[in-house]
Amino acid sequence: MSSTDARHPNIWYPFSSMKGGYPVQKVVRTFEEFIYLEDGRKLIDGISSWWVNIHGHSHPTLAQAIYEQALQLEHVIFAGFTHEPAEQLAETLCHWLPNGSQKIFFSDNGSTATEVALKMAVQLFHNEGAQKINIIALEGAYHGDTFGAMAVGARDGFTTPFHQFFFDVHFLPFPDSDHEELALERLEALLEEACPSIFIFEPLVQGASGMRMYTARWLNEALQRCHKHQAISIADEVFTGFGRTGRDFASNYLSHQPDIICLSKGITGGILPLGVTAANQKIVKAFEDQPFETAFLHGHSFTANPLVVAAANQNIALLKNTATIERVRKICSMQEETAQLWRDASLGENPRALGTILAVEAAGGEGSGYFNTLRDRIYQHFLSNDILLRPLGRTIYTGPPYSIREESLQKIHTAIHTFLKETH
Ligand code: PMP
Repeated sequence: MSSTDARHPNIWYPFSSMKGGYPVQKVVRTFEEFIYLEDGRKLIDGISSWWVNIHGHSHPTLAQAIYEQALQLEHVIFAGFTHEPAEQLAETLCHWLPNGSQKIFFSDNGSTATEVALKMAVQLFHNEGAQKINIIALEGAYHGDTFGAMAVGARDGFTTPFHQFFFDVHFLPFPDSDHEELALERLEALLEEACPSIFIFEPLVQGASGMRMYTARWLNEALQRCHKHQAISIADEVFTGFGRTGRDFASNYLSHQPDIICLSKGITGGILPLGVTAANQKIVKAFEDQPFETAFLHGHSFTANPLVVAAANQNIALLKNTATIERVRKICSMQEETAQLWRDASLGENPRALGTILAVEAAGGEGSGYFNTLRDRIYQHFLSNDILLRPLGRTIYTGPPYSIREESLQKIHTAIHTFLKETH
């Protein structure tokens, strides 16, 4: 592996210190599951570049859709105006999402998608005259990096400087098999208080906090209780949406549906940024007759940018294609078989798969969660094998593009297998 550091002096890189850490790589081209570096190396993107490029990189059909849209209508203010690509996307999502969504609010990324959802829910109760609102989240959550999204996320080293400015949130124990009952009891106790409640969660798997998985059975129980007490439930499907868990949305595993679903990442096939907050009838009804003063007064300059929504429309067509569905199926079975193989061989801790996600903990290192010292070593190790994996502490995971060649996924599995064996 090249040890040269390509970081540019005028760029402030995300999630990294300005000096030290592992070297930054200069990318010259991307195609399918590959990232081509300036030094001639070709990496397999085992994490869909932060879980976004679900059809691989530089997809010609997505690029063409953006090009054609740019020649026709590249951008227009979305207050007081509407356009066909946005209408098409909103209609498609409302028909497709399993929670009977009726309206789509557009923003720019995953953090704004959840921020908008929280603001909608808080304002709904405010409009009804609530003096106090219980905001409930799961321990270890990640919902984004804006203030509201941070506040409902894990209070850890990433957010320490900002804690004093966060609003109060009640965190339920993470509902792993030892804490399912306790988490439900805490939820029930909060829901029974006199004030209204908002419950936000990553359905079935917490991504950033280490691919922590929990059951649809628990979530159904929790949602049933939310409905009984007229709480507003918000499913943050920013990571889990668009096939990542093996179904179109993680909510497809549920019989009780959330009121709001947040989407981003895979929504454009990763080619452009977009956030979506999808609201059901209960939310829409509460805002339907509000005058301007109590309407939802939120928006962004690039709301429903036509290039972005055109990419999303094309992405959805690709996703619904039979060939893609077959490939997703194949990846799901390869991930599950590999998890089983590692379980049988007692390799790593807790090998697990959910849809196209495969995760396992490597042994060793110091420090908890993301700050475990194994992180840098794991990252460097796979990079030197021409594979991009971005471990979450000592959690190694892969969530590849659905277009990945079987031999590329096999190469990732073999590399992880070898690493786990060597660090046993
Ligand atoms: N919610 C979840 C579940 C996420 O995984 C992420 C990003 N990892 C976000 C929200 C924030 O998305 P973004 O980085 O696009 O702001």
